[in-house]
Amino acid sequence: MKNHTKQYINGEWVDSASGETIDVINPATGEAFGKIANGNAEDVDKAVEAAHDVYIEFRNTPVEERCAMLDRIVTEYEKRKDDLIEAITDELGSPIDKSEKVHYQMGLNHFAAARDALDTFQFEEQRGDNLIVKEAIGVSGLITPWNFPTNQTSLKLSAAFAAGSPVVLKPSEETPFAAVILAEIFDKAGVPKGVFNLVNGDGGGVGNPLSEHPKVRMMSFTGSGATGSKIMEKASVDFKKVSLELGGKSPLIILDDSDVKEAASLAVQKVVHNTGQVCTAGTRTIIPASMKDEFLSAVKEEMTNVKVGDPRTEGTQMGPLISKKQYDTVQSYINKGVEEGATLYHGGTDHPQGLDKGFYVKPTVFSDVENKMTIAQEEIFGPVMSVITYNDLDEAIEIANDTKYGLAGYVFGEDMETLKKVARSIEAGTVEINGAKGGSDLPFGGYKQSGIGREWGDFGIDEFLEVKSIKGYFK
Ligand code: NAD
Repeated sequence: MKNHTKQYINGEWVDSASGETIDVINPATGEAFGKIANGNAEDVDKAVEAAHDVYIEFRNTPVEERCAMLDRIVTEYEKRKDDLIEAITDELGSPIDKSEKVHYQMGLNHFAAARDALDTFQFEEQRGDNLIVKEAIGVSGLITPWNFPTNQTSLKLSAAFAAGSPVVLKPSEETPFAAVILAEIFDKAGVPKGVFNLVNGDGGGVGNPLSEHPKVRMMSFTGSGATGSKIMEKASVDFKKVSLELGGKSPLIILDDSDVKEAASLAVQKVVHNTGQVCTAGTRTIIPASMKDEFLSAVKEEMTNVKVGDPRTEGTQMGPLISKKQYDTVQSYINKGVEEGATLYHGGTDHPQGLDKGFYVKPTVFSDVENKMTIAQEEIFGPVMSVITYNDLDEAIEIANDTKYGLAGYVFGEDMETLKKVARSIEAGTVEINGAKGGSDLPFGGYKQSGIGREWGDFGIDEFLEVKSIKGYFK
């Protein structure tokens, strides 16, 4: 058993106030494999006080010092590569290969990107006789979900450290061990006492008191809309700044000049990656009506070839879902799709054959989906594709934007002018043309109900800063 029942507060591992613990489940077996502390308001208060005690000193550190600190973090992070991969594979059920190439790497990229952004980041600007100063906002509460344990935490932590804001992190209680390793990394890297604090626990016990603590000046949250709105409500009492990265129901528009096999391959990747537990998953596949039969059969072939299985087996492409709760949610959406009249074209409910233990599901495709159906409007957070047809490009764009979300969009085809036109028309924070990969220096965030604010690189640093005008500074 992997037990980490202490909290990291003011540079030390200390007992948690309640003495209670939470079991952490391995989704591949459905069994507990470790415990973490079930923190409470007392732990939160200690952590916030520790951060508050150092916020002015940390704000005033020279940029070069924060650069050096981020450099040391990168070095220590790389040393813990194997441990991070192990932890993510066990707690998330991510295939081991993806734990390395996606999860481990994304965390590293964020620390490196924040470090690079500091090289050119303008904290001060002269305008006439006056000075504009960007300075660290102060104590920041970070609350993260389970689907990308190192990515979600590292992107917030790297930005806050680069800005000079101390933090209290509450990671998801379902994937806490990667964050424990991050705490060990920061400890080794000499992050000053009080600048980083980790309080493990659940939303009610830790997330709530953190969101309403009067000495917290900013809440940065990634997770579901329902939780985001609760945090915003608490934060509104004393007007804390909020940065929210929420859900999505992203469209993939396939143009009529596409290679059907390549389009199908991309569409399948967009729904099976991380077992569909991706806020930017491209789960609404919008295709020309004329391409329907050919596209569906190419998708079926691709889906059949997706290797679902034990995350530790070499070659596994899709592991289990995170939890029994998530498994049940996905089952109920599949049933809902059938009830509302979509055609269950591939996959379906229940476990894949031979994978009865753990929270495995079948990659699933619905055809004849109308965009108003529940499966096309709500975020399923599982490997379920909804195929929707269009007759002309304007209709495709209309369908793409007919959603309360606006996190991401995808377009695939040959004609660059059409691809660009579609990319500009999709109402979303990130649009990807032909599967292009962007760097961690690009802003990330959502339109509409997908969130407030932008993260990653220099945009992420800006979130943890206040802006001050000093008039007459150069007189
Ligand atoms: P969740 O909202 O249930 O939980 C997220 C975090 O909030 C967890 O740490 C949880 O303990 C905490 N929390 C729960 N209740 C709380 C409360 N009342 N006050 C404060 N904190 C509370 O989300 P989840 O199930 O962990 O993650 C899945 C969701 O996250 C999906 O909707 C997904 O789209 C979204 N997500 C968004 C992004 C993005 O960048 N936009 C990225 C990943 C995931």
